[in-house]
Amino acid sequence: MKWTRRDFMKLTGAGVAGLGLVQLGVDLGPARAYAAGLKTEGAKEVITVCPFCSVSCNIIGSVKDGKLVSTEGDPDYPINRGALCAKGAALLSMTRNEHRLTKPMYRAPNSDKWEEKSWDWMFERIAQRVKETRDKDFIFKDDKGRTVNRLETVFFHGTSHADNEELALAHQICKGLGLVYLDHQART
Ligand code: SF4
Repeated sequence: MKWTRRDFMKLTGAGVAGLGLVQLGVDLGPARAYAAGLKTEGAKEVITVCPFCSVSCNIIGSVKDGKLVSTEGDPDYPINRGALCAKGAALLSMTRNEHRLTKPMYRAPNSDKWEEKSWDWMFERIAQRVKETRDKDFIFKDDKGRTVNRLETVFFHGTSHADNEELALAHQICKGLGLVYLDHQART
């Protein structure tokens, strides 16, 4: 049988340590009861790749009853060896997050109130504002007469919870509009 680093960690973490404690007369009943209540108990493990940057760390996802219940770094993968940065460690909240807004919120200029709007209304509004600003401010040539075709009055700021592919698409859209100021977390 071939042992992986993960198998070894499980064995040393649960089996060997448990054996040593039993020999010392420690009652493992409460610990076993606690372990039985863990969210990953009985879950199926699947290997996936962190979507947030080009390092591409491996992540073990635990799936229970068709739902992702836990994510952690894969100790068998040579690139990250079980470690994850803050973005990768927060991957689970991409799929489930009770704090996430599910409807667009709009705050009108000079207002101190947020209003709930429909997606259609919000897309229309964003498209209108981008077009107005681009039509007004687009720079075709610089002060030396060189063609630059750029827009300096719109800034794109990507969320830290957008993945590489979403941001690659957003990047192309921004470049197509002539934006030169844009930033997001998938640039590494
Ligand atoms: S964002 Fe962090 S965890 Fe994800 S691939 Fe990059 S370095 Fe790894």
